[in-house]
Amino acid sequence: MSKTIELPIAIGVRDLAQRMGISPIDAIKKLMLNGVMASINQTVDFDTAAIVAAEFGFDAIPEAQDEPETAEVGEVPLWRQKIANEKEADLVARPPVVTILGHVDHGKTSLLDAIRQTNVASGEAGGITQHIGAYQVEKEGRLITFLDTPGHAAFTAMRARGAQGADVVVLVVAADDGVMPQTREAIAHAKAARVPIIVALNKIDKPNANPDRVKNQLGELELVPDEWGGNTIVVPVSARQKTGITDLLASILLVADSADIRANPQGKVIGTVIESELDKSKGVIATLLVQNGTLKNGNVVVAGLSQGRLKAMFDYRGKPVPKAGPSFPVSVMGLVDVPAAGEIFEVVENERAAREIVLQRQQALKEKNTSAKMSLEDLFARFKAGELKELRLILKADVQGSLEPIVQEINQVAKNSAEIAIKVIYSETGNIGENDVMLASASKAILIGFNVQAEVAARRLAEAEGVSIRMYDIIYRLTEDIEKAVKGMLAPEFTEKVIGKANVLAVFPISKVGKIAGCRVLDGELRRNAKMRLRRAGDIVFEGDISSLKHEKEDVREVRAGFECGVGLKNFHDILVGDQMECYTLEKSG
Ligand code: GDP
Repeated sequence: MSKTIELPIAIGVRDLAQRMGISPIDAIKKLMLNGVMASINQTVDFDTAAIVAAEFGFDAIPEAQDEPETAEVGEVPLWRQKIANEKEADLVARPPVVTILGHVDHGKTSLLDAIRQTNVASGEAGGITQHIGAYQVEKEGRLITFLDTPGHAAFTAMRARGAQGADVVVLVVAADDGVMPQTREAIAHAKAARVPIIVALNKIDKPNANPDRVKNQLGELELVPDEWGGNTIVVPVSARQKTGITDLLASILLVADSADIRANPQGKVIGTVIESELDKSKGVIATLLVQNGTLKNGNVVVAGLSQGRLKAMFDYRGKPVPKAGPSFPVSVMGLVDVPAAGEIFEVVENERAAREIVLQRQQALKEKNTSAKMSLEDLFARFKAGELKELRLILKADVQGSLEPIVQEINQVAKNSAEIAIKVIYSETGNIGENDVMLASASKAILIGFNVQAEVAARRLAEAEGVSIRMYDIIYRLTEDIEKAVKGMLAPEFTEKVIGKANVLAVFPISKVGKIAGCRVLDGELRRNAKMRLRRAGDIVFEGDISSLKHEKEDVREVRAGFECGVGLKNFHDILVGDQMECYTLEKSG
């Protein structure tokens, strides 16, 4: 008999798991099995949650809603949250931002090209030679902004950062092929992000096109075509013959009109990074989609860990523009680093403030990385400390045929080492993508790739999330590594104990000896025969032995907190004022 559970219209994965009394990982796994890639902090809608609940024997019923508005908070994009304070009277309509999703080869690129060629603002025919990741078209005197980044990557990246950029999703489904895995994935993404979907039924020119079959399939996925009494607009198009494009654009405007697509052009400038790259001659070029306020050339922008004063701004035609309002994409020059796609950007007062924000973010990231780092070694260490109950692995391999033997081998290693539980929580064929990283991050797992690649965006995300990715092409190397790590864990280990900290106040060159650091001991003590670590802005620049320790010209064995001293480091002379010293000992444990 199933138990009843009340669920809100949207619920975080963690919350959902808690309410059912199950582990979030199990919930994430069930979501994945149902084609929804969600991390522990993401929000799923009621229908999705109900499916998962059913899998665990719960009958989900909608929770009584007193405040339907706040129930959606989990998926309110970050940029929207940041402009929540804009006054109602200041908000004006802005062009809808559209993203095109769909299965590979169903015609996303062709459709984007067809729209661009047939509808670019008049007088510009054939004018767009630039590709900046977004463009605009005009329809009935109104503008529509298209995100021109192929695939789900950009959309997923944005969602991963809570920065959902699109107001409408156009789902391309080839009429001759029907609903495919990536179609489902796209639907799941759009639904979870609460973005309305319009279906572009593409390739209707093909003789074997079967629109009715596709409509049936869509109906099964709760995208019931409006002509069948549902509320999903399905527009037949041919990207190749450029038919149906006008209808598609009209439908987009129709859907946009029923959504609240507004912003304050005079308000706080905020938006999303669409793409960015490092150009050898021009430096960092980033495409920014303004979502509120008006971005002006010369503004100082912070985007994630990147910042800078804008030196030039161009529209999607490559035309220099002095400013860009809500929903306008611009490619900009002037940022000092390449920001990640999907990152939120903001305008700040001056470069000093910008640098300060970036520094704070770097610091926070470092702390997060050191505390949540999930390298194989660290995981074993934490396992040993009793923090983790099992070692979790996520496995991606090139073919199904190699997945099975690897899982078997890993299970064998697990069996041989009774002390440690090793578990492959998810295994799948294909390259390592952002979803894998998100899952690994959520479940504190290590990602293992076998004969596959890790996508660039996935690597970036892994770095930011502190997820360890290990690549192998030979099975025994993989199992050997795991075995080694297990053994290393079981062997006696040295644990480190920090006994003192000091600041470098001055650096003196001493002939023959090299550099001596004049330090003040802040904490504990420095000991001549202990080890020393030198940190610079958080980075470790040296780790090793002390070559000399002096207090007022006397060689001493230790110097305590409050005192000053001269420290020489063995074979290391690149010491700078402001560096921090950490004196530590290694003690045998286990
Ligand atoms: P994407 O992977 O979704 O971006 O798909 P593409 O736009 O690259 O299209 C995949 C293939 O389908 C290409 O060979 C296109 O020429 C073809 N194609 C795209 N749209 C149509 C269409 O409307 N009709 C026909 N017959 N072929 C199309």
